[in-house]
Amino acid sequence: MNLRPDSTNDRHAPAASKAARPPLMRLTSAGKRYDQGSTTQQALHSVDLDIHRGEFAAIVGPSGSGKTALMRMLGLLEAPTSGGYHFQGVPEQSLSDEQRLWLRRRFFGFVPQEFNLLRSASLQGNVALPLMYRGLPAERCRTAAMRALTLVGLEDCGHKMPDELSGSERGKAGIARALVCNPSVLLVDRATRPSDQPLCPDIGALLRQLNSEHQTTVVLVTQQASAATWAQRTVSLNGGAVEQDVSQEAASALH
Ligand code: ADP
Ligand code: MG
Repeated sequence: MNLRPDSTNDRHAPAASKAARPPLMRLTSAGKRYDQGSTTQQALHSVDLDIHRGEFAAIVGPSGSGKTALMRMLGLLEAPTSGGYHFQGVPEQSLSDEQRLWLRRRFFGFVPQEFNLLRSASLQGNVALPLMYRGLPAERCRTAAMRALTLVGLEDCGHKMPDELSGSERGKAGIARALVCNPSVLLVDRATRPSDQPLCPDIGALLRQLNSEHQTTVVLVTQQASAATWAQRTVSLNGGAVEQDVSQEAASALH
């Protein structure tokens, strides 16, 4: 039994549990320690967190609170150094490198802090890049890029260069590039420098729309408490630990 009915032909797809449907992502007492020579940095301490299919969760906390480390664990880019992580009921320790890579490509779209757009390529070229890397035919890459650009409302900007875009458009382009492979989960890491602007309302609304209309699970990592405006749930991190985990319905019921 594979993780997905449409993955049955992929030799890298790991077997899923036969138990009742587990949460999409489950961290159990998960810690993350970085060792750098003689110094050690404990980025996360014993985090328990379930994220279910179709959720839109904001992970909010000050710089250095462990948001990026958490997001990288959820996206199978890094393993916890203590505790565990299950993706669709499958323990990440049981995965081979090939299975990990397969899962990352199959299920996750990453929107990194800086969007990382290539300045020398058009928007369409940038968005098509993940598919080009996978060796898909150019025409298919172009079509998929245009579809992703349409999803984020940039269908008329495919020919533009990144320097010709506004900040909000660059953000949307970063999201389009993550969407081009049709991920089930979008992991969005908003930059955490003090100079950063609050999350652009356009981007928040777009993420909400992708979540509600396309059932994309969204995890938005940000310093901005205002992200709660768009998410259904806000998980507050401080010093590498979960301080609060509040669903927006529960929060509004209190007021
Ligand atoms: P945030 O995204 O909330 O700003 P991070 O998850 O990037 O926080 O970092 C949490 C802590 O872990 C910080 O103290 C940071 O310096 C440390 N850290 C993160 N990545 C590494 C790494 N690769 N090597 C060493 N320390 C790291
Ligand atoms: Mg960060």
